[in-house]
Amino acid sequence: MNNNKIYLCAPVNALVEGIYEEKIPFTEIKKHGDFGLGTFDNLDGEMIMLDGNIYQMTADGRVHQVDENALTPFACVTFYQPLTHDELEEEMDYPAFLQWLQNLLPSPNIFYAIRIEGLFNYVKVRSVPKQENYRPLVDVAEEQPVFEFSQIEGTLAGFFTPSYMSSLSVPGLHLHFLSADLQHGGHLMNCRPVKIRAGIQCVSTLEMALPMSLDYLTWDFRRNTAQDLDKAEK
Ligand SMILES: [Zn+2]
Repeated sequence: MNNNKIYLCAPVNALVEGIYEEKIPFTEIKKHGDFGLGTFDNLDGEMIMLDGNIYQMTADGRVHQVDENALTPFACVTFYQPLTHDELEEEMDYPAFLQWLQNLLPSPNIFYAIRIEGLFNYVKVRSVPKQENYRPLVDVAEEQPVFEFSQIEGTLAGFFTPSYMSSLSVPGLHLHFLSADLQHGGHLMNCRPVKIRAGIQCVSTLEMALPMSLDYLTWDFRRNTAQDLDKAEK
């Protein structure tokens, strides 16, 4: 498990502050993982990476597979290698599902990569609309288009991050959804799984790159962004 680490191409607080353009190519991101989530430059939609394929889920509700020349200001990836698999074969509401998932994680103080596949009776996702730089993420999140689906098969991919790391990555569970037909997806807001299988990878190493853009190098990061992030990512 030499590659068993979480890779962040930038701290999430840069995104929360409105730095939406870092021009980091996915050629770089893919050196560090084949699985994960994030966004695109100018906050142009939600990103999900599965088996090395990069999907862009834009605010018009569409999904596009993009190549490695796409650019990102924030991505969190790993080489997916699950340690355990668990199955759920009864319908659960969202709070019960979250509790079921939390119970699969032995400690809240390390990272986990989580991949869940199966059938959902209900899925609610959002996708961020394209933005100019410097508009705080918490303001953007108030206008995000929301999409709801019933009886849909698909994959949830994402991470659990320890609570005290909220300036680096989204704390707690952060999952993105992509339908099995690759037509729908976004940042997960709610779901009711019916029959799913969850793969869990425990990760105890974090590798984080710091952007070398002028925006990043000259920004004042002393503001505590935890509350903004909590509001924007719910
Ligand atoms: Zn997200």
